[in-house]
Amino acid sequence: KIGSSTVCGFFKGGKLCGMVSFQDSAGSYRCSIDEVRVLKELTRTIFSYLIKLREYSTARENAEYAANYDELTGIMNFGSFKKSVKKYMDSAFEGDRFVLLMSDFSSFSYINSRYGYKEGNELLKCFAAAFSYFSDKIKYICRAEADRFCAFADFESGVIPAFENFTRRFTLNKDLAGGDMSLGIKIGAHILDMNTAFDFDNAYDCVSLALKYSKMHNLSHCSIFKPEMREEINRSVEIAADAKKALENKEFKVYFQPKVSVSKNRIVGAEALVRWVKPDGTVVTPESFIPLLEKNGYIVQLDFFVYEEVCRYISSKLENGEEVIPISVNVSRIHMLTNDFSNYILDMVKRYNIDPSIIELELTESIFIANEDAAIETMSNLREKGFKVSIDDFGAGYSSLSLLKRLPVDVLKIDKGFFESQHVEGNDDIVLSSVIEMADRMKIDIICEGIETEEQVDFLKHSKCDKAQGFFYAKPVPLNEFEDLV
Ligand code: C2E
Ligand code: CA
Ligand code: CA
Repeated sequence: KIGSSTVCGFFKGGKLCGMVSFQDSAGSYRCSIDEVRVLKELTRTIFSYLIKLREYSTARENAEYAANYDELTGIMNFGSFKKSVKKYMDSAFEGDRFVLLMSDFSSFSYINSRYGYKEGNELLKCFAAAFSYFSDKIKYICRAEADRFCAFADFESGVIPAFENFTRRFTLNKDLAGGDMSLGIKIGAHILDMNTAFDFDNAYDCVSLALKYSKMHNLSHCSIFKPEMREEINRSVEIAADAKKALENKEFKVYFQPKVSVSKNRIVGAEALVRWVKPDGTVVTPESFIPLLEKNGYIVQLDFFVYEEVCRYISSKLENGEEVIPISVNVSRIHMLTNDFSNYILDMVKRYNIDPSIIELELTESIFIANEDAAIETMSNLREKGFKVSIDDFGAGYSSLSLLKRLPVDVLKIDKGFFESQHVEGNDDIVLSSVIEMADRMKIDIICEGIETEEQVDFLKHSKCDKAQGFFYAKPVPLNEFEDLV
């Protein structure tokens, strides 16, 4: 008893949960033993109900939370984002403008396989947290799927630049463990005018296309949806379908680009590069179809076709008793997803009775993305069998140097990016000279790609790199023209 009131506590697991107090209006009444018993009984009943009720409502809140929010990042999931946007749009007026934004990480599966899922998840959480605050115009954000995020905002001219700015800053400031990989984010936007009825699915489709467009063209800025994008994307899907027929119709041709000894001014090798020569004579360069053929898997057949053509050429030279020069071929990363690449290549040189050392396999580091150990094993094995192995586009990617540590190679092909500016200038010059020096000391052969000017040739003459490939000497040409050049 406290003063004039009688207080009854409720304990659970030895802990006080709360109390019920009885106070009569007369002020001085002392409860009898029986009354206290009733009060105790009531307290127990009241609390068991209250506790049950609380449990129910937390469970309901949790279930609602799970249904509406993304478990990993804690931001809205796609379903509730869609619901919220639709609801918001219900009260929009004619003439109002909105924007739907979408972002997607480049090579997120690479991040997962290189750094592990935990680090991948951390990255998503970190992005979601930052994404929530990038502009005060943002109404809703969500994780739409995997590494794809969406935001919905009132449209103002500053929103898209803010979005671009945010993703740029995020990629620059976020270090992944080890720090030898740069992050990439592609973004798209769709601006909605409230003049027609709002159709969420259509708007989502449009922003997805804009993002696809950014990815296709490797754009670092935000693509804003335009109806023509749909056509272009459809066309690329058609290319992928046509390529199958083109392979059957033998529309693919192998071109050869000379590799030259700078000091001797002589052709010392060549790279085989595929071309699609359409029946009407137009020549399509590989960059517009190889990524598509890598997606649908036809690249395996196409590469094998190129390798066969190269072997056929070499063996015909040998049969005529002519001198042969080494020819390099490109190896798509897709081969590493199949088991029989080594067997195929070994069987092929045997069939044509060719010494493997005349063939160089050009690999970009993308080969090592999906299954690094298997790729290193395959390539080391082929190298032991006598094939030359080179790293293509050296210096252009994420981890050229660390790759070099893991895979012994014969040749480094320095990326043409180093020579893209007319002069070799600034830090590029220092990096380039150091790479050449390093390769020389490691007894690795070196060749520079994309040599276009006299000035670049002069640079090479004064360096320890004697080999060059580029338009200065010759463009890739059909076999008969190549023979003339040789
Ligand atoms: P890559 O292996 O780096 O090939 C070199 C590319 O640079 C070629 O483009 C070539 O034409 C171009 N190039 C050569 N010299 C110069 C120059 O001085 N300046 C400039 N700006 N460019 C120069 P291409 O033939 O369009 O091939 C593009 C890419 O397509 C190749 O890059 C390679 O990754 C891929 N590719 C080509 N043929 C095949 C193939 O048969 N199989 C596979 N898997 N990929 C191929
Ligand atoms: Ca190449
Ligand atoms: Ca290259």
